Amino acid sequence: MSGLVLNGVTKQFGTFTAVENVQLSVPHGTFVCMLGPSGCGKTTLLRMIAGLDDPTGGSILLDDEDITKVPTHKRNLGMVFQSLALFPHLSVGENIAYPLRIRGKSREEQKKRVDELLSLIHLAGYGDRPVSKLSGGQRQRVAIARALALSPKLFLLDEPLSALDAKLREAMQVELRQLQQKLGITTIVVTHDQREAMTMADTVVVMNGGHIRQAASPIEIYRKPADTFVADFIGSTNLIETTADNSGLASVFGHGVPGLVLPSGLQKATISVRPEDVHLTAPGNGAITGTVTFVRDLGGTIETFVEAGGKQIVAVSTPRARPDVTAGQQVGIVLAPEVCVVLKQ
Ligand code: ATP
Repeated sequence: MSGLVLNGVTKQFGTFTAVENVQLSVPHGTFVCMLGPSGCGKTTLLRMIAGLDDPTGGSILLDDEDITKVPTHKRNLGMVFQSLALFPHLSVGENIAYPLRIRGKSREEQKKRVDELLSLIHLAGYGDRPVSKLSGGQRQRVAIARALALSPKLFLLDEPLSALDAKLREAMQVELRQLQQKLGITTIVVTHDQREAMTMADTVVVMNGGHIRQAASPIEIYRKPADTFVADFIGSTNLIETTADNSGLASVFGHGVPGLVLPSGLQKATISVRPEDVHLTAPGNGAITGTVTFVRDLGGTIETFVEAGGKQIVAVSTPRARPDVTAGQQVGIVLAPEVCVVLKQ
């Protein structure tokens, strides 16, 4: 298969296993974000793909070639790290041309490629500026252009945007994704920012404890989280305990949820229901009964906190669909079966 394949990739530091038996296929031209909490192993995995760390088990294939033991400089990669590592005493053009110069490209070739890249990153005409005179976002773009100068097969980025302020980071996420789509380059980004991952990725790889917990499109990760960790880590959600009767019909806090059936053999399970899928209504009519404890009006969205069965359920609505409730009031909670995701433990 063209693209990147990780086959049972494992990394042990002494007796500690940082990455365990990772299996992943990244088809050519796709954008993958590796996402997970601090220490989950995402940087270690990226470093192994880059050849900066040797796996202690498994193999790495790039376009069907086993590159597990190929040194970094022969892997045909472009890399950008959080620190950027631009040369401060060189101009923008000289920074971008650096890898071309090292490879012995002629001055004409260097100039042509630098001009192409400058226009690609919307910095045409900036070639002679010192990098020290650029804004954070512009420096970021120069680091990206330098990494792409040799037209690598694979583009690897580790927390590339985390030094930028929030507004600029959001703009750069869109820019990076558009650039990747234009070039069709296979790209892997490590991030701990789920909004960033959701914005850019074709595939989000959620990691925890050295394992991949789920690898799927952003919307699938959000709508169909594979387990409690993913459901809780991505966005906010209500994790609710359910029990099943003999025919598998599920109930929550003693109220049946019409239409929700647990997989056969399961007597209880945790379900995930996103706050925007919790529907509040008048109490009665078989709805789960709860008491409103707090209403948070954020202008664009309204969060209603409801206590039911000793647990807190959060419902989110838009101002137009605002539930007419105040703290202390009894409400009914309706969970449509199609919005309840039964989770693996
Ligand atoms: P962060 O978001 O904080 O960078 P991460 O998900 O990228 O975290 P890694 O840097 O891959 O996590 O580290 C995974 C685990 O491996 C951590 O527990 C870390 O302490 C450990 N680790 C990483 N490098 C080494 C090393 N060279 N020697 C020993 N342990 C290491």
